[in-house]
Amino acid sequence: MRSGGIADNLALVRERIAAACGRVGREPVEVKLVGVTKTVPVERIREAMEAGLEIIGENYVQEARSKLQALAGLPVVRHFIGHLQTNKAKSALECSDWIETVDSRSLATELNRRAAPGAKLPVLLQVNIGGEETKSGIQESELPSFLAFCRGLDRLDVRGLMAIPPFFDQPERVRPHFRRMRELIENLRKDAGEPRSLSELSMGMSGDFETAIEEGATIVRVGTAIFGKR
Ligand SMILES: *Cc1c(COP(=O)(O)O)cnc(C)c1O
Repeated sequence: MRSGGIADNLALVRERIAAACGRVGREPVEVKLVGVTKTVPVERIREAMEAGLEIIGENYVQEARSKLQALAGLPVVRHFIGHLQTNKAKSALECSDWIETVDSRSLATELNRRAAPGAKLPVLLQVNIGGEETKSGIQESELPSFLAFCRGLDRLDVRGLMAIPPFFDQPERVRPHFRRMRELIENLRKDAGEPRSLSELSMGMSGDFETAIEEGATIVRVGTAIFGKR
């Protein structure tokens, strides 16, 4: 999938986001596009930023640190989207503005301890939506108590939920998982009596971001469709 250049790919992804929004009566401004840049060299990240990409997502702390130093000073919001070990929390904070993959009390506690005093670090709670043993994420049943725990950590700003559903070739088969995520976040909002809290739902990748948007995604994480095959 190395069709056009990055700018063309990005424009096409934006058109597809707008079309998906249109099908369900949403506005494209409601959907943040995270360009996933794992394995992508800095030159190509710059190219994407010049074409208007505003948010990038990295999976590995070491890779993110070296690349992001090269991008220092440029206006880009950095999301950490990989599995994060508790002992790497400090390093991750040095190269990330958001952490999308908070999946344990120890990690949440360490992020809170390492965040700057007075900081409000935007975080998402990662849900193991397919209940897959090999994937990280909080189980559905643990979510309310985990949310309450994280809300007690004063330097964390819990913005919503994130998931990597089981992989299927056909997006229609992922749809029930996206729909379930939407139900989960709506239930949490209801429990909290705060309909406007937890506004972010990060789900959908190159193969299924349109379906995710139809089901309520506010953040889509797209790598291949922008940068080509890894
Ligand atoms: C790699 C990755 C993506 C992007 O996947 P593509 O299929 O290349 O769009 C999204 N989210 C996470 C967590 C990833 O690791």
